[in-house]
Amino acid sequence: MPTPIAGLHHVTTIASDPQRNLDFYTRVLGLRLVKKTINFDDPGTYHLYFGDDHGSPGTILTFFPWPNAVRGTLGAGETAATAFSVPTASLGYWRERLQRFAVPLTETHHFAEDVLRFQDPDGMVLEIVGDAQAKEPVAPRGSDVPAEHSIRGFYGVTLLVHLEAPTAGVLDTMGLEKTAEEGERKRYSTRSGALGSHVDLLVDPKAARGRLGAGTVHHIAFRAADDAAQAAWRERLSAHPLEVTPVLDRTYFHSIYFREPGGVLFEMATDPPGFAWDESLETMGESLKLPPWLETRRAALETSLPRLTVHPAGDAVVKTEAAGV
Ligand code: ZN
Repeated sequence: MPTPIAGLHHVTTIASDPQRNLDFYTRVLGLRLVKKTINFDDPGTYHLYFGDDHGSPGTILTFFPWPNAVRGTLGAGETAATAFSVPTASLGYWRERLQRFAVPLTETHHFAEDVLRFQDPDGMVLEIVGDAQAKEPVAPRGSDVPAEHSIRGFYGVTLLVHLEAPTAGVLDTMGLEKTAEEGERKRYSTRSGALGSHVDLLVDPKAARGRLGAGTVHHIAFRAADDAAQAAWRERLSAHPLEVTPVLDRTYFHSIYFREPGGVLFEMATDPPGFAWDESLETMGESLKLPPWLETRRAALETSLPRLTVHPAGDAVVKTEAAGV
């Protein structure tokens, strides 16, 4: 058995307006912009990374903001919700905060946990889960969210699939075990207790297929402890059998990708080198970072990319265009 997978590493989503995206995640949710770079496959557009103060694996939500992106449709073969962990005692704070920012929300529960459910300005479905096992905060600097209430990172994700067994088979190969079941919702968890250790399958044989676009998740990434663990997992997943890509250098981690049989694109990303290797922990996210092979194009890229401003916390309230879920 390769080194066990701790949980989620990051979740990557398509957005539209980059400034609106930045405002929502930093000013409403209080996350830190830990990296401002470009989409390596489409260098004229941003790739924004949000997370806890250190950009720890298990806290990273990343976006490809395409200003003219058409909204996607949530459906089978997609990530139906991305959930954050906060202490159970912090749910009241978040209910009040989301209402103050005029973000419509619904309250629900999954198994034993109370959940606030809402959407980001592009319609991405988010959840804040009252987590009895919430970690100590690594609170983002500059945020006006009190450290004790800060979003710790991921609780987990919910995948909408037609059938349980094929996706569950892959999760089983990855070392996740079924830990709960309630109607159509089946929970698979790693044993680590780390951030992002839960994957819920929402099984609906009749669900229409989703369509990728703004507000829909492009892929979810799980953690590999290091390159050696990733190589061992690549071998094991290939034998499942799954079609796994070669290792790709994503600058801040090394990645392999495969599509699970339910249709969701999975990635496995290494913990090292992390986000503080090309700028200091103190200044992470402040300047545009480019991979070495694009440095020669820096001047042109900086001119063509839309200007982004990180607004100070606590200034004028952002009116989101989020709709009720
Ligand atoms: Zn990724």
